[in-house]
Amino acid sequence: MILGLLKEQGAEQRVALLPEIVSKLVQAKVEVYVEKGAGTKAFQTDEAYRNAGAKIFSRDELLKKADLFVQIGEPSIEIIQSLSDKQVWLSQYNPLWNTDLVKSFLANNITSFSMDSIPRTTRAQAMDVLSSMATVAGYKAVLQAANELPNFFPMFMTAAGTIRPATVLILGAGVAGLQSIAIARKLGAQVEAFDVRAAVKEEVNSLGAKFVEVEGAIDDSAAGGYAVEQTEEFKKKQQEVINDHAAKADVVICTAQIPGRKAPLLIPTEAVERMRPGSVIIDLAASSGGNCELTKNSETVIYNEVKIIGQSEYPSLMPIDASKMFGKNVFNFLQLLIAEDGSLNLNFEDDIVKGTCITHSGEIYNERVKSVVE
Ligand code: NAD
Repeated sequence: MILGLLKEQGAEQRVALLPEIVSKLVQAKVEVYVEKGAGTKAFQTDEAYRNAGAKIFSRDELLKKADLFVQIGEPSIEIIQSLSDKQVWLSQYNPLWNTDLVKSFLANNITSFSMDSIPRTTRAQAMDVLSSMATVAGYKAVLQAANELPNFFPMFMTAAGTIRPATVLILGAGVAGLQSIAIARKLGAQVEAFDVRAAVKEEVNSLGAKFVEVEGAIDDSAAGGYAVEQTEEFKKKQQEVINDHAAKADVVICTAQIPGRKAPLLIPTEAVERMRPGSVIIDLAASSGGNCELTKNSETVIYNEVKIIGQSEYPSLMPIDASKMFGKNVFNFLQLLIAEDGSLNLNFEDDIVKGTCITHSGEIYNERVKSVVE
């Protein structure tokens, strides 16, 4: 099979596969064709891809030649329409939101995989791009918050007096939130975290943060590691507690999300009004609506001297390691699709292959996507 590695579009700086992964694919008898300049923004030269055993082509040539395309971002409708029904698409195209792309893949009879649909099972952990990219986002969010805050993070006892440590409130203690807790603690801040999933309390505490408790959440233990929608009464109680804690925080890092839905609103305008001037909110849920009412995606809003940074693109801002992690996850997944002779083998008996496949033979394979599109 010929694997075509495409260059990302727009401002994206990552590349889906680094040369080190290309060389592993070549060893697995896959022919790898790379779009000219695919790795430039991630500091990977065409020469490095050539040395790894790839051939370099223009985008147009690549689109005609490859059997399987790999990139990170979503394809355009034009790209989908230009593919033949023998070609296979793999990227992170967010099918729960981008239902027009799902419909286009269906209409053009294209087999498509979306890496954000990798099942959240133990066997699939090494393929989970959402976790990898959330790790990057959680890390970068804290660094940016520390840069923007007009205070220190750690406590200092100096000849010029004692500096109190910053207080950081993390909303959502999933992969990004836990990473943010770890980094904020390393920088010496006092950290509090809240999540609707009570099960994360132990993890939060073990990282040295305090878990903010609100009683009465709906049991989510059967939801496969995801959060579930909560009752109105719980949300009201939760809101009061969060508002009180936000008012005392120097930094709030918002990471709370519910897959396929608008992000929960956790910091309404009145909570921002109670925050100290100079404090900072980083909203990682910005692209799905934000956890803060005042968040604007990819923008910084200043309200009452509180800085609200809507940023969902942190992985792109750390392109080498983010590409390394993304590519390793993709490689681990591709091993399920590559036969011993290097040919493409779509084995839908495998639950990971089936769960990650969004469209095949004019059908929607992924159950959650099916429920949203149909
Ligand atoms: P996510 O990005 O979908 O959500 C982030 C966090 O926001 C979650 O912890 C969620 O509970 C929380 N949240 C949602 N609504 C909220 C609200 N109203 N208030 C406060 N918090 C809210 O989730 P994620 O970080 O990708 O993953 C969540 C969990 O899934 C992980 O912590 C992990 O336990 C599990 N997981 C398992 C696997 C695996 O087994 N392969 C892989 C990845 C994640």
